[in-house]
Amino acid sequence: MHTLHVAFDDTDSREGRCTTHLAFKVVEHLKKKQGAKLVDYPLLIRLNPNIPWKTRGNGAVCLRLKVQAADRVIDYIRQAVEEGSAIGSGANPAIAFLESDYVPTKLRDFSALAMYDIMSRQMSEKVAKAAGIQYFTFGNGQGLVGSIGAMGCLLEGDHTFELIAYRKEKNWGRPRVIDKQSVIKFSIDTYPHTFNNYDRNQGRVLVAPHSPDPVFFGIRGESPDIVESALPALHPEEELEGWTVFRSNQGTNMHLQNEIRIANVKAYTAGYIGCKVSSKPYAIEGGHVIFTVKQDGAEMPAAVYEPTGLANVAAKLEEGDVIEIGVGVRKGTTKHPKILNVEYLRVLKLTPVYETLNPLCKMCGKRMKSEGKNKGHQCDRCKHKDHNTKKILIPQERRIKTGLYIPTPKAHRHLTKPLQRYGIEKTKFLFEKK
Ligand code: ATP
Repeated sequence: MHTLHVAFDDTDSREGRCTTHLAFKVVEHLKKKQGAKLVDYPLLIRLNPNIPWKTRGNGAVCLRLKVQAADRVIDYIRQAVEEGSAIGSGANPAIAFLESDYVPTKLRDFSALAMYDIMSRQMSEKVAKAAGIQYFTFGNGQGLVGSIGAMGCLLEGDHTFELIAYRKEKNWGRPRVIDKQSVIKFSIDTYPHTFNNYDRNQGRVLVAPHSPDPVFFGIRGESPDIVESALPALHPEEELEGWTVFRSNQGTNMHLQNEIRIANVKAYTAGYIGCKVSSKPYAIEGGHVIFTVKQDGAEMPAAVYEPTGLANVAAKLEEGDVIEIGVGVRKGTTKHPKILNVEYLRVLKLTPVYETLNPLCKMCGKRMKSEGKNKGHQCDRCKHKDHNTKKILIPQERRIKTGLYIPTPKAHRHLTKPLQRYGIEKTKFLFEKK
């Protein structure tokens, strides 16, 4: 048996279809008809979420297989992806194949960069060729970046699982009937081992998309068993086409591991910045909060958007506070400079804030009036003057605490690490493929 790595991306457009569904169909066929064996769960890899040309969540798929006859499998998958893609209505698919027992370092390095940076198609071609990857592209070929990015991602450290259940074609586009109470119960029963099923703050079920695609629901969690337990627990009334458990970097903050320096920040990248708040935050229309941050003398604006639920917290920051922020860099325009879109806020050190008061009169006890800068104070009542008085500083209670603040689940990106996952991150791959 040969080891064959297969990755594909950009098969879908906004009008429907879905790369994971194609992966589900391909896996079903390969297992049943070609005796292929998966050596890992199918991988659902999310890449840089700030790519402007993504359709939705910038997801790509990789399958690691043991196959009898690689050529036959390659022919089949190539045809299935070509036929199953929305070529001509926005998709620019690419399929990549690598016959190898290991994943070359160059490919892994490319993948690590594709999590937070913008990669060119030319660069992906160069890496593919150097790694001995056979690839096929359609449309403008941009899908090769995602394919290579997914293939190079081994998920040796932190990872999660998602069970995705698919609808029969006759139901695509019809409303999904999902019992809210069952989702709430399932979330409570499986806490903290599943995540983002239900947003308690907003009272919203999060497992189902609202688009007309084939996905019925997706359940995210820490192990294959726990996500599979959703099927009996949520007992969908609709007859489903089937389901697959994907291993994924969703919920891991993988895109935010890169340290950004303000002095050479690049549009569309993602990462984290250690910095100081350098201006008092203010709210703009829509409830979004803007402030500036400084690092080694370089300064730039940061925005916390209202739907994240973090705007109220950010509004309590003060100039001088030491923070770390996870960010996506929004491109500058002729009207606006580049801006850091905040994805999480960690308050490291709060600066003391004081209320300043004039001193009390030594003679009669009344609060004095200032005579001007460095000119001392005079009492209005008894007219006593004192040139050596100073303002009194009264420390104010800060209405914010040090610690980590992350968005409400409804506003999470696929890669956002939910609060409950902090401290239970995985450091290795623990689950044998069943
Ligand atoms: P869905 O989530 O529904 O699968 P999507 O959001 O993944 O859709 P795609 O249709 O896959 O959207 O389009 C994303 C495109 O961006 C692909 O062509 C992919 O190759 C490309 N891409 C992904 N990551 C990067 C990156 N870091 N730099 C440049 N291009 C990228």
